[in-house]
Amino acid sequence: MRIDLHTHTDRSDGTVTPTELVREAVAAGLDVLGLTDHDTAVGWDEARAEADAQGLRLVEGMEISCRHAGRSAHLLGYLPDPGHGPLVAALDEVLRGRDERMPRIVAKLQELGYPVTEQEVAAKSAGATALGRPHVADVLVDHGIVASRDEAFDRLLSPGRPAYVARDAADLVAMIGLVRDAGGVTVLAHPWGRNGDGALGRDGFAALQEAGLTGIEVDHQDHDAAQRTELAAIGRDLDLVVTGSSDYHGTGKVDHDLGCNTTAPAQLDRLLAAAEAAQAARPTRPTRPTRP
Ligand code: AMP
Ligand code: ZN
Ligand code: FE
Ligand code: FE
Repeated sequence: MRIDLHTHTDRSDGTVTPTELVREAVAAGLDVLGLTDHDTAVGWDEARAEADAQGLRLVEGMEISCRHAGRSAHLLGYLPDPGHGPLVAALDEVLRGRDERMPRIVAKLQELGYPVTEQEVAAKSAGATALGRPHVADVLVDHGIVASRDEAFDRLLSPGRPAYVARDAADLVAMIGLVRDAGGVTVLAHPWGRNGDGALGRDGFAALQEAGLTGIEVDHQDHDAAQRTELAAIGRDLDLVVTGSSDYHGTGKVDHDLGCNTTAPAQLDRLLAAAEAAQAARPTRPTRPTRP
């Protein structure tokens, strides 16, 4: 049983369509696929249709851009009701922040002398609901200014680099509760990756668990062997679900091939049981209007 719970499509900053993602997952020998585009459920229906056709088990999710203790944090939300009003509103806010940031990044690049236009970024991200720095990076690659997305981030787009622009993100603790209210469950993505290294210790995870967090992503390419061992120990200690994933982005991220990290079946079972419990705990709404 091969389970990969964190992947992206071209609805955010991946390079394949939801249909292609499902086909690639089958070809990679996966049995269960988590679809987790940034800040949107927009790819779910297309992926669901193909997954049903292929007999692949799909777990609908999203990777939500959050902020916690002054740092960026990515929250994987699985199986929330995508029509839950407060969740939709919060995601719309994040998506608006992504849209508003884009012209400011382009302006910074132009000031630096790079002939990048908003139209080019728009063309690059056509079809994407969540615009991201990777789309700008792809335009820079097209111009021959950088050789890869990696180089674009390292030289220009990462925090502290000259074309970096911050954007709004949701409060992590509030978002954990919002996904729960929507009948879903949450897993903190790559908690010690990139800018997050050392940000959260055992007590930090315990506090998030108190707020409703169900799991932590341990086996991720941004974590080295020592970090994985330590995170897994914290997960065991706190009885958090621990997951592993590729964080596949198509050709947009090297060394993130589908299935390069996987989640243990027993951990998926726990995650799905928690989702069922969250679903059952949702306040029931009347199915038909009450008599006046
Ligand atoms: P944004 O969504 O605009 O904040 O950009 C963050 C996204 O860029 C994340 O989904 C990462 O997967 C991706 N990313 C961050 N750093 C790199 C990098 N060095 N190379 C390629 N992709 C990256
Ligand atoms: Zn991404
Ligand atoms: Fe992430
Ligand atoms: Fe991701």
